[in-house]
Amino acid sequence: MLEIQDLHVRVDDKPILKGLNLHLGAGEVHAIMGPNGAGKSTLSAVLAGREGYEITSGSVQYQGQDLLAMSVEERACAGVMLGFQYPVEIPGVKNVYLLKAALNAQRKARGEAEIDAPSFMKLVREHLAFMKMDNSFLHRAVNEGFSGGEKKRNEILQMLILQPHLAILDEIDSGLDIDALKIVAEGVNSLRSASRSMLMITHYQRLLDYIVPDHIHVLADGQIIKSGDKGLALELEARGYDWLLEDAG
Ligand code: ADP
Ligand code: MG
Ligand code: MG
Repeated sequence: MLEIQDLHVRVDDKPILKGLNLHLGAGEVHAIMGPNGAGKSTLSAVLAGREGYEITSGSVQYQGQDLLAMSVEERACAGVMLGFQYPVEIPGVKNVYLLKAALNAQRKARGEAEIDAPSFMKLVREHLAFMKMDNSFLHRAVNEGFSGGEKKRNEILQMLILQPHLAILDEIDSGLDIDALKIVAEGVNSLRSASRSMLMITHYQRLLDYIVPDHIHVLADGQIIKSGDKGLALELEARGYDWLLEDAG
């Protein structure tokens, strides 16, 4: 699904990712943990194709294609989707309109016809109910005035509708109370499938009580310095990151 090799990325001439390697198989859920400033959001932004990042070396293969050569739109249509740490507000654009436009763009890229209005509304209402959001969210401007938890739920709603092959979730747990965290985790867990991979970025172990990853990696100073199974998260919770940083020298 995703093969990252020796990725080096600079932002404003400052090296941020310094030789990152990562392999995600189909159906796998990987968590990336690590201290603040390690480069976690930079990694997610580079995978999503955001501007302002200079890739100085390395490669990223997504389903056998050169991901870094693809435009943001091409990535989205190929099923790569990023859930933002800080979801953007889009004043003047209704949530329902964005969802429909995104879904139809994806269908068009796949040579499929636009979804008809009744089928679309049925699909949206089903997922809204699952995310415990009421219909009013459809008619509000995208994320405008949404609470932190509502924004994160809206990100997962988009994923439930667009069904990405590779979902990247950047600190989807930050700013959530425990009830919102459980709803978001249920949404993410319902997306798990043999053909979908997920990269979950989180600073805290708490999320991983609800979404249990297959593999955990620690990103520090632009490199993966340790990988393990879910036991590693518990060890990090107990010991912090310092012992790893010392080991890594
Ligand atoms: P994390 O998500 O792990 O907390 P980030 O990827 O957000 O880390 O940031 C990694 C480093 O890159 C930090 O030192 C941060 O200050 C720096 N950085 C990120 N974006 C920019 C930017 N646009 N301009 C300058 N420095 C940046
Ligand atoms: Mg951070
Ligand atoms: Mg971050």
